[in-house]
Amino acid sequence: MRTGEVLILMGPPGAGKGTQAERLAASRCLTKLSTGDMLRDHVQRETELGLKARAIMDRGDLVSDDLIVAMVRSELETQEPVRVLLDGFPRTTPQAEALDTLLAEFNSEVSAAIALDVVEDVLVQRLLGRAEQEGRSDDNEETIRKRMHVYNEKTAPLLRYYQVRCCLSVIDGVGSMDEVFDRISEVLP
Ligand code: ADP
Repeated sequence: MRTGEVLILMGPPGAGKGTQAERLAASRCLTKLSTGDMLRDHVQRETELGLKARAIMDRGDLVSDDLIVAMVRSELETQEPVRVLLDGFPRTTPQAEALDTLLAEFNSEVSAAIALDVVEDVLVQRLLGRAEQEGRSDDNEETIRKRMHVYNEKTAPLLRYYQVRCCLSVIDGVGSMDEVFDRISEVLP
């Protein structure tokens, strides 16, 4: 039986990572680690990390690699074998390199990376719609544009990182939640 499994779900803000991450983790018995959710939890509890992260998140920038990697490490330490779905991490090349090192320490490695592909206009519409429903403090047009820019600059290069290392699938993220979920399931071993 396969024991360890590390799936990475990537995609720009609004691509539907959170929703798909939830379903994929449940269907494959993986622990979902969403760095965005973990950070929002810190912000809400007003921890030291949360106090540092709040302003950075509200302006659409990335929290520092060191803080993020430390946060992920403490989660992975509770896992044996490592069975996780990573949502929103890694987001920079140093984070991807740190993940490889961390996983090697835990005798594990990335099993597959999925990138959800959605054009920018659709993303902005989705996020503005979500802003009305959920009121997330970084879902205003200015911060959304900034997050897109940061994604294109810092995170999009990671697609190539995983493409050359084995395991990237780019999935069309436009369609119903079920359609997208089926597309992802089809490419996973
Ligand atoms: P989205 O993908 O819609 O931007 P997330 O919930 O994944 O939403 O992230 C929200 C914010 O949290 C990001 O804009 C960033 O400030 C911070 N964040 C989340 N994950 C990371 C990460 N891996 N590295 C740095 N910052 C992160």
